[in-house]
Formats: sequence, C-alpha cells, structure tokens
Amino acid sequence: MQILVVEDNPSTARAIRSMLEAKLFAVSVAADGASGLELLGRHVHDAAIVDVGLPGIDGFELVRRVRSEGVRVPILMLSGRDAIEDRVAGFAAGADDYLVKPFAEDELLARVSALLRRTGERGDATTIEVGLLRVDVAGCTARYAGVPLTLGPTEFRLLEYLARNAGMTLSRAQILDRLREERTGSSNVVDVFVSQLRNKLRRCGADGVIETIWNVGYRLRP
Ligand code: CA
Repeated sequence: MQILVVEDNPSTARAIRSMLEAKLFAVSVAADGASGLELLGRHVHDAAIVDVGLPGIDGFELVRRVRSEGVRVPILMLSGRDAIEDRVAGFAAGADDYLVKPFAEDELLARVSALLRRTGERGDATTIEVGLLRVDVAGCTARYAGVPLTLGPTEFRLLEYLARNAGMTLSRAQILDRLREERTGSSNVVDVFVSQLRNKLRRCGADGVIETIWNVGYRLRP
C-alpha cells in the first residue's frame, strides 16, 4: 500500500512518515499543493493525507482539483483548525475524513486503515470488474469470462493498474512508476509486459482489451 503525505511542516511530515513506515506502508511526501497535485495525478497511491495549510494551492483546493480530475483515492485531511466550517469545507471539497492536529499516532493509523477498508468495501481494493474481466486484488488472481489467467507478479500489477483506471489513458511513464521493481528499465519494459499480458488475455478470448494510445501509452477498454 502506498500513501502520499502532503504536508509542508517537515517535522510533522517526518513523524507521519515514520508512523506509516512502521506499519509497512510505502510513503511519499510532497511539501506543497502543486507537487501533491502532480503526484496524485499519477494514480499510484492507495490513500493520501493532506494538510489544509499548504503554500500555494491549499489543501481544500488540492482536494477539489484532484476530485474534479476524477481521482478517487481516499483522502484524509489534516488541520489545526477544528471549526465546524473547516470540517465542512474539507468534506465539501471531496475529502473522506478530517483529523485535527495535534493527533495521537494510534488515531492517525486507525483513520488511515478505516479509509483503506472502506475503499475495499466499495470494491476498489479487493475486486475490480471491467466487462468480463475480474481482478481479485487480495488474492492476486484474475479471470476473463471465468477463465483464470496465469500471470507473473509484474503482469498482475500491470493488469490491476489498467483495470483500476479502465477507460483512462495511462502513459508509459505512469505505468513504469507503478511497476516499481522495473523502474530502472526504460519504457520499453512497459511495452514488453503489455505485450505478454495481451498474449495471455488473447488466449482467454480477450482480444483487443488493452488499447494502444499512439505516442502516449495504453488503456484498458472500459
Ligand atoms: Ca501546514
């Protein structure tokens, strides 16, 4: 699970990072709204923790913008402000939860787990269905029209990523980012894995499910 922390106070950011890393989450940190926006646009995070008071684009605006771009990642807003109108503004912007600083470590972790669990219940994290394709994220298995696909770990992650973002064009750079272990490779690596995955899908009767978007990348047909 990969969590993005958007927090401009370095010591708070460090504290949150170490709490999350202790629970084996992979953590990335952005120190301002603009870089938070850019990172969330890559669709690689499973949840985000966003501080309200940020230089440039503030937390409310950041959440509003990512939601308007269709990014559905669960977001926990952090704020030193406890007023009802601040909480309302957070939820109105599209946040899923709101936590007031200072907070206890246990509370932050409980909120993050609840967010991830809720996403799972919505179907985002456990099973993804796109047409006849069914990806079981928890079990790391996939079927097309009931026929199991035999996938390697990287092929599975690639399929999961495409399925999560079905209908959306993903650039080779975004895909490469997601296939973290392959990050050292060139974007050719992406083409190789896409081609392997296509062959396996084709054998299950799923021809043309992954479309090539000329000069950009790929998308899973919705
Ligand atoms: Ca701040």
